[in-house]
Amino acid sequence: MRFTKIVCTLGPSTLAPDRVRALVQAGMNVARINLSHGSIEQHLTTIRMLKDINKELKKGNEPPTSVGILLDTKGAEIRTGDVSEKLVISKNEEVVFSFRPLPEEKRKVITVNHDQFDKDVVDAESILIDNGILKFTYVKTNPDGSVLARACEDGSVGSRRHVNLPGANLSMPSITPKDWEDIAMAAKEGVDFLALSFVREAKEVYEVREFLESHDTHIGLISKIETRQAIRNIKEIIAASDGIMMARGDLGVEVPFETVPAIQDDIVEETRRAGKPVIVATHMLESMIDAPMPTRAEVTDIAHAASTRTDATMLSGETASGEFPLESVDAMDRVLKATEEHLFQNFTLAEAPELNEREARAHAAATLAVSTHASALFVMTKSGATARDISRFRPNVPIIAFTEQETTQRALQLSYGVLPVLIMFSEDPEETVRVAMDEAERLGLLQPGDHVVLVSDTKAGDTSVNTIQMRQIS
Ligand code: PEP
Repeated sequence: MRFTKIVCTLGPSTLAPDRVRALVQAGMNVARINLSHGSIEQHLTTIRMLKDINKELKKGNEPPTSVGILLDTKGAEIRTGDVSEKLVISKNEEVVFSFRPLPEEKRKVITVNHDQFDKDVVDAESILIDNGILKFTYVKTNPDGSVLARACEDGSVGSRRHVNLPGANLSMPSITPKDWEDIAMAAKEGVDFLALSFVREAKEVYEVREFLESHDTHIGLISKIETRQAIRNIKEIIAASDGIMMARGDLGVEVPFETVPAIQDDIVEETRRAGKPVIVATHMLESMIDAPMPTRAEVTDIAHAASTRTDATMLSGETASGEFPLESVDAMDRVLKATEEHLFQNFTLAEAPELNEREARAHAAATLAVSTHASALFVMTKSGATARDISRFRPNVPIIAFTEQETTQRALQLSYGVLPVLIMFSEDPEETVRVAMDEAERLGLLQPGDHVVLVSDTKAGDTSVNTIQMRQIS
């Protein structure tokens, strides 16, 4: 089994039931839909296709018996407008950025979707297009509110390209009216995760949570860390969120790119200690968009993320629009497994705070499983919290999380080392354990004679108590 999970972004290369089934077979644990592209109708079709695939997986005789569904909001991003032909720009050329079209302007005009661009640009260190491929320096603001800027190199600008203003505090809300529409759609459809783009402070996460609660729904809120403000407010954002995504594409233009690896490692560690899933995203196998083999540097990047025991690594363009989506998942799967194998040779449990009885019990269960070389940890969990508590310590023993809730099962698809399995719980805890053992055997997860560490309730007289037990599969 692989402990680190794989998130795959769906797109033109993979948006068909057979291709999604193939991604699941190759190792996808969570499917990501990027709401920056496509219409609500297209996203609804994709969500329903994934739900149908989940119904098929549920009937299967081997894991996985579900995949998680993650929607990723567009967020407050500045983009250039549509152009019929790419604007070719030369080094030192002065061009005009404008919210409004300027048909009379003699210089080249790059339109942007942000009406306060002229105000926000003043505090920015530069204007970056396409994740920094093309850089401009601010020259002045014209009386009509357009902005004159000088190109730092040769390049071209196509339609709807990403624009970053590093160092600026954007005046647009981080959750835009389009995002609210998408969040309402997610609430109605009942997906598993909502990744919030360009989060700046915890308040924004609480606002979305309140909205979801008012719609009687719970969706795991994953804050994407891609702005300087988010890094400054990281502790509060982790506390407010159900998980974190290291969105290294935008982050690498908002902060000097050489600082991204250290920021990534610190945030992976802090999020793990908090018992919340963390995803390392972007450019992990970028070259595989059009090549069947990864570069050695990409292999090392994935291995690095796995060595820091992140919960998940993510593929974006590789599976959404690349020529080799299945090869990309296969490459990621191979690198993660090989790295885990190496890590487990010299294994120690990770540290995490034990602030209450539940967390202390999780540590005890993880320690027992590792020191007795158990085949698995069997965890009975309603909300998934017990499984996540144990996962925080990153045992090298699979955590088979039995739950009766499909939502919990799918939510746990993002957690390190957790293999979620759906069963019916019974009034009698021992009967639940028996059903769990049968289901594990049916799915080929255990052999007779295997030892497991069992974390479950048991009856003590009239009351139910939490226990950690050692059991042998008969
Ligand atoms: C990123 O910027 O790294 C990221 C994951 O966000 P998106 O793909 O939405 O630009």
